[in-house]
Amino acid sequence: MKILTLNCGSSSIKFDVISTSVEVMQKGQDYSIVRGVIERIGTENAIVRYKLPNGDGFKGEEKILDHKIALKRIVDILTGDKPRILNSLSEINGVGHRVVHGGESFSKSVIINDAVENEIIACSEFEPLHNPQNLSGIKVASEFFPSIPHVAVFDTGFHHSIPAKAFLYALPYDIYQKYKMRRYGFHGTSHRYVSQQAIKFLGIPSENSKIITAHLGNGCSITAVSGGRSIDTSMGHTPLEGLMMGTRCGDLDPAVILHIMNKEKLNIADADSLMNKKSGLLGVSGISNDLREVEEAREQGNERAKLAIDIFCYRLKKYITAYAGALGGLDALVFTGGIGENSSLIRELSTNGLEFMGTKIDLAKNNANGGRICKEDRLVDISAVGTDGNYSRVRTLVIPTNEELIIARDTVLCIEKLL
Ligand code: ADP
Repeated sequence: MKILTLNCGSSSIKFDVISTSVEVMQKGQDYSIVRGVIERIGTENAIVRYKLPNGDGFKGEEKILDHKIALKRIVDILTGDKPRILNSLSEINGVGHRVVHGGESFSKSVIINDAVENEIIACSEFEPLHNPQNLSGIKVASEFFPSIPHVAVFDTGFHHSIPAKAFLYALPYDIYQKYKMRRYGFHGTSHRYVSQQAIKFLGIPSENSKIITAHLGNGCSITAVSGGRSIDTSMGHTPLEGLMMGTRCGDLDPAVILHIMNKEKLNIADADSLMNKKSGLLGVSGISNDLREVEEAREQGNERAKLAIDIFCYRLKKYITAYAGALGGLDALVFTGGIGENSSLIRELSTNGLEFMGTKIDLAKNNANGGRICKEDRLVDISAVGTDGNYSRVRTLVIPTNEELIIARDTVLCIEKLL
């Protein structure tokens, strides 16, 4: 089967066509035929980029004023002559959509029908930024692909296994009953993919495995995965909770924000923007939300950049140890996402001092290739080897995430009625 995966944001659409089937995915032999993105949708100079595995591709600026035009452009890319990617659009067997919030309704991916669409709309209350965008992507894609199944794959789905003691906030219980205020967690497809890859690599029985996965990108979250199931995760009711991020503050004493609102006369939107857009690496360093720029400033002796990175890593380390405790042991710690895959500094500082719990990285392996994962790497083991020739008890792995692959696989499983 060939599955088109779509990730629709407010001004971008990421797309991928993946060749897979139940048999092929079991062997891990599914692969991407083309992968691309259209950014700055709604402008005269939108960026269109795509790449084929043989290195062929395209990057250019074009006028793309809405998502429908963007999807038409994607269809043209797929069916164009140069390069020839598909002979016809009918080769696509299903479309898998990333949907950020599935609330309490969706523990698994589902074929989209009217009832599912209504639920996605209902969950927009929790995720007003992304869910409406995801849904309009679904509607536009249904116009181009009216007669094949469309499947919704939820960021929150993997975290449905989190028990009540970990998903409930210690607020009056009726707040949960009335408003479904609880931890939902995000980045679920990424945590699911890299934890599965880690278990496969270690060759341990999935049911006994204890893995911590740190997805560190612009948004950052960390998950405790026991027996292949998420048992706790750092993002909460919204993606604001947990680790420090590019522009988000992460964990915070809630009284602090009430106090600032009072002192600075902020309304709800101002307070939301303060915590979501002006904090994190950007807020502390005063330089950028982009870790590369903060690392550069740190190199040049900038104290605030150093402080931002120190806070980022200290908090990450605290979560790693907390989750090792929650899991009652640890087989592997996995780094993924733009930061996790590329910043040897963050990996080093956030694991430094964890030797007491069996986590020790090899600095040379961590720094190889400038700390960046190579394109062809599917997994890099940066664990130290002791004088006895054995790896450190807890393995530290760097695994490039592949959310699109999980979306494509789930789409096939839904089509085959296996989910
Ligand atoms: P998103 O969450 O938007 O998908 P990514 O997963 O691409 O984002 O992660 C973006 C983050 O990764 C940025 O903070 C960026 O600075 C960081 N990053 C990417 N490459 C490197 C690198 N070589 N060194 C340090 N940080 C990097």
